[in-house]
Amino acid sequence: MESITSASYAVHFNQNAYAVLEQHLTKKNYSKLFILVDTNTRRDCLPILKSRLRGKYDFEILEIIPGEENKNISTCTKAWEALSNLDADRKSLLINLGGGVVTDLGGFVASTFKRGISFINIPTTLLAMVDASVGGKTGVDLGPLKNQIGVINQPEMVLVVSEFLATLEVRQLNSGFAEMLKHGLIQDATYWKSLKLITDFVALDQLIYDSVIIKNKVVLQDPTEQGLRKILNYGHTLGHAIESYFLESTNHETLLHGEAIAIGMILEAYLSHHLTGLSEGSLEDIKSTFLGRYKKVRFSPSDIQNILSLLKFDKKNSHGNINFVLLHAIGKPAIDVKIPENLYKEAFAYYNGL
Ligand code: NAD
Repeated sequence: MESITSASYAVHFNQNAYAVLEQHLTKKNYSKLFILVDTNTRRDCLPILKSRLRGKYDFEILEIIPGEENKNISTCTKAWEALSNLDADRKSLLINLGGGVVTDLGGFVASTFKRGISFINIPTTLLAMVDASVGGKTGVDLGPLKNQIGVINQPEMVLVVSEFLATLEVRQLNSGFAEMLKHGLIQDATYWKSLKLITDFVALDQLIYDSVIIKNKVVLQDPTEQGLRKILNYGHTLGHAIESYFLESTNHETLLHGEAIAIGMILEAYLSHHLTGLSEGSLEDIKSTFLGRYKKVRFSPSDIQNILSLLKFDKKNSHGNINFVLLHAIGKPAIDVKIPENLYKEAFAYYNGL
């Protein structure tokens, strides 16, 4: 598979990715090499990575505890301290080997350690391959509030190697698939149609490639999210608030990122039908696609109130306004849409009634 070029780096695929990594390590002659893993990727992915490299490298391994609840500044502090104790300097490299938690947090740790060291992302979940590892958004949560602290900073390269997916749970694969479905909804109705036909996750290479192309195309046109890049947040305004609320709530089981934004995409399709002309048929199509794949949650009136109160923390807000990405049609997004107050509750009532 041909590499995809982004602004300052490239995304390389499968076996070619290992060769490119080795050429890069030889060329750059980094002073020290660090690999950030979590407990699961240390067990399942690190041995694969090491076995695929022909050269001998002295990697120092930094390990974090898996899970969104650890994507926070105290985990960063431990990683910064470990880098410091292991004599990392500004010519060191950090390789992030893991899902979106590892690539988001590792990218931020690298971007801020000694005012910035180089990093490479090797995503190991479907979600991180098609979304989190590409585009340069790095950061951590602030309490339960998603991605409040961070910087946009690009990796040296991204290596997408689908063999890592062999050990990933189906629930996690589905979570990543939600971001791929989002790529279809915001940019490409034909891609959306082809994704809907997928019933298993055995031959994903071409679809992963297509999703990286879509994400990269958007990011290249608007790297710092002044306008167009906001479309990648379709489903995320309500989805992030739901994810945050469920992370903290003792009454609900935590939702994976993709599961939360799948609900967000149904709710925001309802808003799109009422505000930006999304047809009844497309609303039905979006709703049945996500309900067919992701579990239904029931929101009580107090859940809804709590979720809505979190919207004020959304990063797309400006001047006190909550700015939504909605759809005019499948493949045709609308940005900076304001929502009349009554429609939020109507959208949740619609979802609860499904
Ligand atoms: P994750 O990193 O928590 O990984 C999910 C689980 O899978 C973890 O338990 C992890 O240890 C395990 N795992 C990872 N790779 C594995 C493998 N190959 N085999 C077995 N187990 C494996 O979560 P995620 O879904 O990858 O990422 C979610 C995060 O990504 C969220 O924090 C979200 O905010 C972020 N995100 C960032 C961007 C961005 O542009 N930066 C975009 C979308 C999502």
